[in-house]
Amino acid sequence: MSKRVAVLDGVKIGLEIHCQLTALKTKLFCSCSSDYRDKEPNELVCPTCFGIPGTLPLLNERAVEYALRIAIALGCEVPQRTSFYRKNYFYPDLPKNFQISQYDKAGGVAIASAGSVRLEEKRVRVRRLQLEEDPGKLTYEGTIDKSPYSLVDYNRAGIALVEIVTEPDFESAREAKTFLEKLRAIVEGLGVSDGELEGAMRCDANVSVKGGARVEIKNISSFKEVEKALNYEILRQSTFSGTEGGAEAETRHWDERRSITISLRTKEGEQDYRYFPEPDLPTLELSPEFLRRVREEMPEVSEVKAERYQGEFGLTPQMAKEVARDAKVADFFEEVVSKGAKASDAANWITGEFREEVRTAAASGDGRLKAGDLVELLKMLESKEATRGQAKEIFRGMMTTGKGLAELGKSTRTGVVLDESSITGLVEQVLRESDAVEKAKSDPKAFNYLVGQVLRLEPKADAKLVAKTLARKIKR
Ligand SMILES: [Zn+2]
Repeated sequence: MSKRVAVLDGVKIGLEIHCQLTALKTKLFCSCSSDYRDKEPNELVCPTCFGIPGTLPLLNERAVEYALRIAIALGCEVPQRTSFYRKNYFYPDLPKNFQISQYDKAGGVAIASAGSVRLEEKRVRVRRLQLEEDPGKLTYEGTIDKSPYSLVDYNRAGIALVEIVTEPDFESAREAKTFLEKLRAIVEGLGVSDGELEGAMRCDANVSVKGGARVEIKNISSFKEVEKALNYEILRQSTFSGTEGGAEAETRHWDERRSITISLRTKEGEQDYRYFPEPDLPTLELSPEFLRRVREEMPEVSEVKAERYQGEFGLTPQMAKEVARDAKVADFFEEVVSKGAKASDAANWITGEFREEVRTAAASGDGRLKAGDLVELLKMLESKEATRGQAKEIFRGMMTTGKGLAELGKSTRTGVVLDESSITGLVEQVLRESDAVEKAKSDPKAFNYLVGQVLRLEPKADAKLVAKTLARKIKR
């Protein structure tokens, strides 16, 4: 069924992701610990958490840095100044009756806007990113629509959240899920959030089918559930399309246990929230120096790097992903390219047959991989100074012996360095020492292994000549 639903026409989905900055030690506006999981309810709270008169919020600087890391990784525009707004609503999960959030209208400026994430062949636009505090956690007896009461735990109230709002660019539940997985990999790679933690990444979704009303699904707890909830909602709404009135604009709740969405309330309009500037927090200046420091300190995530390789070097998505996967290998690749190699050639070479060896050698950092030498080697290949086989032999030699191209490549560049008699000597030595000689008479693998053994003894030897001599010696 889900396959049929997934290809339904006219589906528009937008996502609102709430991502806790779990790498922070404290909450967004006070010094309460943010390590609230597995704690007794209402243990990590203070007067600021509750907004008691006489208290003032104090912005966590690191939270701003982390939010900006996400903004930069998503290619967002960052304004010179940003400010906080009060979003007023009366609900038991908010001890203050308002949430300190951001607003992008009426003079408000969110911390970032207009980013995008590449998803296969398309770009998903990120409308805005804002910094806000998490509400408390409500627990219901039974199901949300039937529960006689709710329990509230304010340990989570005030935890730093980054809200990421996308444009309605998804056309299927599967696409939305793929995006969320990528986003999670990005925030984890940036070292700002651990998406594995329960409730660290939560998602609301807007769904409309064939131009019908927008229905919001609230607080979907996991990415697996997102796909299920969206597919359910697409099917539900498509049964309305064409009928008079269509689906109603409303907020619905995903009931995980029953795998259905249920109506919660008609959707609030923005006027219901009575947004106004937070009087207790000054406008935040995002100076170029501050942004520079954030940029310098942030790790480049492999997902983001892969995108850059596609754009900057024209690698295919698959190839870019492969090169970017391992940071050390990616560094080596970039060095090779910066020294003049063609990016696609370098990428092919690094991720091909030698993938494992390159990874190990790059990780060891012992200088066995020499970017300049690989550049030369690729040039030799292009100019046909060396055959593919010879180039491979040389490259293998570099990684096993640590010798450079100048030493290893001499035989190819100048013809035979060693005369036939000295090669015969080496071949005989290997034949004496190896127990694979019998096998080599019939098995090409064993034969090549022996050739390799000779080259190990003398990497300058011409591989072809070694093979010829060896074949003669064992009468293959
Ligand atoms: Zn507090």
